[in-house]
Amino acid sequence: MMTRNDCLARDADDALAPLRQLFALPEGVIYLDGNSLGAMPRAALPRAQQVIAQEWGTDLIRSWNSAGWFDMPKRLGDRLAPLLGAQAGEVVVGDTTSLNLFKALAAALHMQAAGEHAGRRVIVTERSNFPTDIYMAEGLATWLDRGYTVRLVDSVDELTSAINSETALVMLTHVNYRTGYQHDMAAMSAHAHAQGALIVWDLAHSAGAVPLDLHAAGADMAVGCTYKYLNGGPGAPAFIWVPARHQHRFHQPLWGWWSHATPFAMAPQYAPCEGIGRAQCGTQPVVSLAMVECGLEIFEKTSMHAIRAKSLALTDLFITLVEARCGGHPLALVTPREHARRGSQVSFTHPHGYAVMRALIARGVIGDYREPAIMRFGFTPLYTSFADVWDAVEILQHILDHQDYDVTAQRSAVT
Ligand SMILES: *Cc1c(COP(=O)(O)O)cnc(C)c1O
Repeated sequence: MMTRNDCLARDADDALAPLRQLFALPEGVIYLDGNSLGAMPRAALPRAQQVIAQEWGTDLIRSWNSAGWFDMPKRLGDRLAPLLGAQAGEVVVGDTTSLNLFKALAAALHMQAAGEHAGRRVIVTERSNFPTDIYMAEGLATWLDRGYTVRLVDSVDELTSAINSETALVMLTHVNYRTGYQHDMAAMSAHAHAQGALIVWDLAHSAGAVPLDLHAAGADMAVGCTYKYLNGGPGAPAFIWVPARHQHRFHQPLWGWWSHATPFAMAPQYAPCEGIGRAQCGTQPVVSLAMVECGLEIFEKTSMHAIRAKSLALTDLFITLVEARCGGHPLALVTPREHARRGSQVSFTHPHGYAVMRALIARGVIGDYREPAIMRFGFTPLYTSFADVWDAVEILQHILDHQDYDVTAQRSAVT
């Protein structure tokens, strides 16, 4: 049986362990929620002070040029691109994941409408997808009022048959937010293409969590968050990827001036710029964008390969320890054991999942809760240690063995 000392020995051997110093984590907290809101890079506070006091306070409007504010969405996109398997000039940071999804879906439907499959009207996705993704697709389909429907599918097997000669578009989230299930992006993209469909991927729980190679996987478009595993800060702007091969026929409906070929010509006629800039809309939150860069800088000190190896070791360890030490309790693993099918989180159901998670948080082990009955634990190799995993399971076992949780706990607005 493994001991805490074994975990400490693994930490001593861990090449990523020093990166934890680059994050400001409070004492006494084991943070297992980086899948929902990444921890704060230490560089964020001085950078925010610089942006607010110097660039805004002193340099004022000149900073759009002198501090590179105007170019920041594309500069950050280029910095993010290597983590996605994208090229420079294919990613732009801005807006929200929901908004970028809307643009990508609309542009993809427009591409299909201009081609040999113009009559297709079905958008295929999963019922278990993050709700905003489903809502955005249904909102777009309803608003277009041209017979588009969103087909919600209940299993991966059914997904394969649901993607057929009627499918215009497939919209999938690569790693499921509840279960941590990871799709085979290359196989699913190839299948969609074989059926004449386009495929848009949501990388909210993948970017910075698992190695990605969008080009090799044959994806058509992708979107994702920067405030989760990329540690960009609360509400930080999202990203959108449009590969160079699609950019000339990428037409999204939010014709904001930042997507214009010559925004400062102030022309009354719209003309989209060439390249990824046409995926933009309007003015971006500069202070938040600057925080995204602090998160990305840390990824440049390591590789997604090293992050993935440690992520699998952490999630394997958590599963093993929970099953060994809490086996007498009604916990059920909903995350795949198979490495290739697992993201960087582990989810267990418990009949009193909400109350147990509240008890964990009260004792400094911060995960979160998602309906139905799912306790989520996110593992972020940049700042989570093997000893953290040990200590978290120790506390979980104590809470369960002593039923030290309040089943009448009221739900907060955010669970
Ligand atoms: C977190 C998440 C979102 C969040 O979208 P916002 O527009 O940032 O609120 C969307 N989709 C998925 C799959 C997510 O996991």
